Amino acid sequence: MASIRTEAALLRAAGEPLAVGALVVDEPEPHEVLVSVSHVGLCHSDLHYVRGTLEVELPAVLGHEVAGVVERTGADVSGLRPGDRVVVSLVPSCGRCGYCESGRPTICSRSGEVRRRPRPAYTLPDGTPVARLADVGGFSRHILVRENAAVPLPGDVPTLVGCLLGCCVATGVGAVFHGAGVRPGSSVAVIGCGGVGSAVVQGARLAGASEIVAVDLSADRLRAAMSYGATATVDGAAPDVRAAVHAVVPGGVEFSFEAVGSGRTAELAVAILRPGGTATVVGIAPSGTTVAVPADALFVEEKRVIGSYMGSSRMHADVPEYARLYRRGALLLDEMVSEVVPLAEINDGFDFMRHGKATRVVVDMGA
Ligand SMILES: [Zn+2]
Ligand SMILES: [Zn+2]
Repeated sequence: MASIRTEAALLRAAGEPLAVGALVVDEPEPHEVLVSVSHVGLCHSDLHYVRGTLEVELPAVLGHEVAGVVERTGADVSGLRPGDRVVVSLVPSCGRCGYCESGRPTICSRSGEVRRRPRPAYTLPDGTPVARLADVGGFSRHILVRENAAVPLPGDVPTLVGCLLGCCVATGVGAVFHGAGVRPGSSVAVIGCGGVGSAVVQGARLAGASEIVAVDLSADRLRAAMSYGATATVDGAAPDVRAAVHAVVPGGVEFSFEAVGSGRTAELAVAILRPGGTATVVGIAPSGTTVAVPADALFVEEKRVIGSYMGSSRMHADVPEYARLYRRGALLLDEMVSEVVPLAEINDGFDFMRHGKATRVVVDMGA
């Protein structure tokens, strides 16, 4: 085996558009597979790196919401074969530490070791190393993935929507079930209704929540949230969002989800809870962000604030379940893809996202 030359969208400087160009992908390590990427979703966290609100080593290949087809396997790979369709898990887990063993691979204590590689996965044709976002670097026609991070995608889930399982669905639906543990009949509010928030709304519906209040600045996204299962909407620009949520659910909600990624919205998630409620922080906030919570909200009102990273997902168990829900028409995935762009037009895709209209923009890497 040898390295291969492929094509990728490169971030050379924060604030600049991505540039499509040549990339050299290393040969798979024994425990890795080379995946030919079919589809990759544009996530808000990618936009953070494009804008520079989150930092990444440069040059870099962003993109992490990926589905594709295994092209080559490393010498020690036993569970996957060329031709297998996979969705990529972003959780670099070892499968053997205490957290992994207790079903919490998103906080694996050996993730650093698992990430290590003897050579850069990506280089420019002149040999310059290229960083990969989340160890994936999905805006490339070929990527390298550890075997346990390449999760088989059931045959009836097209890669166009299957990629969503890798980030926004895993994060949103996972936060409802693995994170907050929403109960049937409960009341839920979702702050931020982009890709992740839409998946939270769907998760709340699947969990049997009786009231699901969607909060967002965009009327388009609020309309979409209603189609995913929200029962009421609140304009995020209202002068008193807390009062507006309380007007819909007197006393406040039992479960709130923050899917924006800012301190202010995390604080709002706590404020709209009823006593005893649980706020789950899901959005990726710029580094250095802090969340201020009135102490008496915790000790008098017994509110709980928790985080859920990547939906606290266990991808090998979750993906087949999501596929069954999709097949039954209970998990809406086709509806979440609002735009499809070829790799050459990836920057237009980020523009769609900036304008707040799209639930998800997906790049067709075969186009
Ligand atoms: Zn993402
Ligand atoms: Zn582990």
